[in-house]
Amino acid sequence: RSQTSKTPVQIYNEGISDFARRRLDLLTALPSAIDAGEIELYLQPQMNRTGQELVGFEVLLRWHSPQFGTVPPWEVIEIAENAGLMDMLSRYVVDQACKVMQTLRERELDLTCSINLSVQNLTNSHFVPSALAGIREHGIPMDRIIFEVTETSMMHNMEAVIGSLLRIADSGCKIALDDFGTGYSSLAYLSRLPIHELKIDRCFISQMCSSRNDLGIVQSTLKLAESLSLETVAEGVEDRQTMEALNDLGCDRLQGYLFAKPMPLEAFCAWAQELSAN
Ligand code: C2E
Ligand code: CA
Ligand code: CA
Ligand code: CA
Repeated sequence: RSQTSKTPVQIYNEGISDFARRRLDLLTALPSAIDAGEIELYLQPQMNRTGQELVGFEVLLRWHSPQFGTVPPWEVIEIAENAGLMDMLSRYVVDQACKVMQTLRERELDLTCSINLSVQNLTNSHFVPSALAGIREHGIPMDRIIFEVTETSMMHNMEAVIGSLLRIADSGCKIALDDFGTGYSSLAYLSRLPIHELKIDRCFISQMCSSRNDLGIVQSTLKLAESLSLETVAEGVEDRQTMEALNDLGCDRLQGYLFAKPMPLEAFCAWAQELSAN
């Protein structure tokens, strides 16, 4: 039968079932992929104000599947959330991040490590204590770990989320509000929750030198942070002009492709060495 004999309805149905099949296959494969070490952490540098000194990094997961190829992180997260596997995945990420920190410290790189948490990690009262215990067991100084949480996660089960945030803060680890400005933020959170850092979203940073509105948002976010004694990080810094503008405005740390894309541990170490040699 020729292609043209297919009705649009058939094509549509096949499309849906391909999508559903892939999802099901990925979901089934994820737990053993975690065990098999197919999920690797990439490190993206965070620089000081002037963009010259390496001060930390964010860990971003990559699933290299022999069967499916590289699965993008948003898809991995979506699957893990829907399948109730988020605690298992994040626990693995925290553990791997600790191992990365141990390696870096052996090489005399004393850096902060930012780890993304999902809302499900914060609403489950067991996740945070277990993650913190893992960090302690690895002997990592607690104040070098920054947990990134999104504004949107504050909207779910407030009481449980606040409990988790307080536990994190009590341990000495820090909390960053990720994607700041994109969710349903309430300024009340900023004054009442133990947040240490605002991470200004890429969507404002990328246009700040060409859009007066975006520049205004970045400026006021930095002012707000200053008056609340919060640290600031800009994500998605892609050019020197933006880097210089952020430095002038007093943003504490910078992250983006201008410096480096996320990369595997060994490449990150080589990159750091190159940087300090120059
Ligand atoms: P995010 O937390 O907002 O992470 C920043 C994303 O922006 C990363 O994408 C990073 O590669 C990208 N990025 C950084 N600098 C630039 C830049 O200058 N230009 C552009 N165009 N992009 C830049 P990535 O690695 O694809 O991760 C996407 C999202 O997946 C993350 O967004 C985060 O929400 C989620 N994610 C990744 N790893 C984890 C994880 O271990 N746990 C959880 N819960 N979420 C994760
Ligand atoms: Ca993040
Ligand atoms: Ca972000
Ligand atoms: Ca973002």
